[in-house]
Amino acid sequence: MTHHWDLIIIGGSAAGVAAALTSGRSLRRTLVIDAGAPRNRYAAHMHNVVGFDGKEPVEFVAAGRVEAQAYGVEFVSGTVTRLAESEGGMEVTFSTDSGAVTHRVRRVLLATGAVDVLPEIPGIEQHWGSGALHCPYCHGYEVAHKRLGVIATSPMSDHQAKLLTQWTSDLTWFTQGGEWEAMERLRAHGVSIVPEPVTELVGEPGSLTAVRTTGGEYPVDAVFVGTTLRLDLGFAKELNLATTQTPMGEALEVNQMGQTSHPLVYAAGNVCNPGAIVSVAAGAGSQAAAVVNAMLVEEDMG
Ligand SMILES: Cc1cc2nc3c(=O)[nH]c(=O)nc-3n(C[C@H](O)[C@H](O)[C@H](O)COP(=O)(O)OP(=O)(O)OC[C@H]3O[C@@H](n4cnc5c(N)ncnc54)[C@H](O)[C@@H]3O)c2cc1C
Repeated sequence: MTHHWDLIIIGGSAAGVAAALTSGRSLRRTLVIDAGAPRNRYAAHMHNVVGFDGKEPVEFVAAGRVEAQAYGVEFVSGTVTRLAESEGGMEVTFSTDSGAVTHRVRRVLLATGAVDVLPEIPGIEQHWGSGALHCPYCHGYEVAHKRLGVIATSPMSDHQAKLLTQWTSDLTWFTQGGEWEAMERLRAHGVSIVPEPVTELVGEPGSLTAVRTTGGEYPVDAVFVGTTLRLDLGFAKELNLATTQTPMGEALEVNQMGQTSHPLVYAAGNVCNPGAIVSVAAGAGSQAAAVVNAMLVEEDMG
């Protein structure tokens, strides 16, 4: 049975387009299947990405796609619904506007990212990516020296609160009644500690004004929260890919080569590294595609 593709990349955002560029330049028959819902789609601008700082997230992906297409990589809009083994290779089934199709391939790269499960705080959805943020390296400069809050919603909250002192001296840590090792240190550093549970984020969509707790209302310009990342890999369930729990949520287990627990399936980006920002996800995508190419060269030499 012949395999039409050398590599199918599932997910065509930061990790996916970078992998596509490397694979296309390695003269590999490469297909990218992308459902078009990158994790950072809620943010108007992207930061801390060399060459694209301050640009719309979609610009990075669009530029990467054009570059990869120039080397013969094909892109299709669609959603992968099944990934299975098939006579020495893999079979990828995906749905598009014109129906479902199955393609055979020698290797698969998962660049499907992860889904942010937002903490259960009323109002957070309408501020996500504008006034409710998660990453100081992505958004910290834009809200520097303003009235900032950190709401304890993840095991990483004390880390987040400590970091934010670098961007503002007006920081309130909403600890939600929890006991945190860093509390006294941060209080001594001038951080206000509010223990009462947060009940709501206040303000029109995209314009956060305050955090409401059971004890009152605290004016803020932005808050930082932790989300829990969830993998959406039901399509690969037949492969029983090994996963691991991290303080940020679930992640696929990969070795240093980006290989998952299945020898023909690789992964890059947030699907296996929850903390990866765009440039890190893209770097991992390039590296994984280079490893796939090297493995295929070995295989073809017999
Ligand atoms: C609000 C917000 C703002 C951010 N701002 C920044 C920033 O300013 N700078 C920065 O460096 N980082 C930022 N990040 C982090 C950034 O989003 C991630 O680093 C980046 O998206 C990871 O890229 P990825 O390719 O791994 O996954 P993603 O970008 O999430 O892409 C995954 C792709 O796979 C597709 N996909 C998933 N499942 C399937 C399937 N079954 N079939 C086909 N396609 C599928 C998705 O539709 C999506 O297009 C931000 C994150 C958030 C939440």
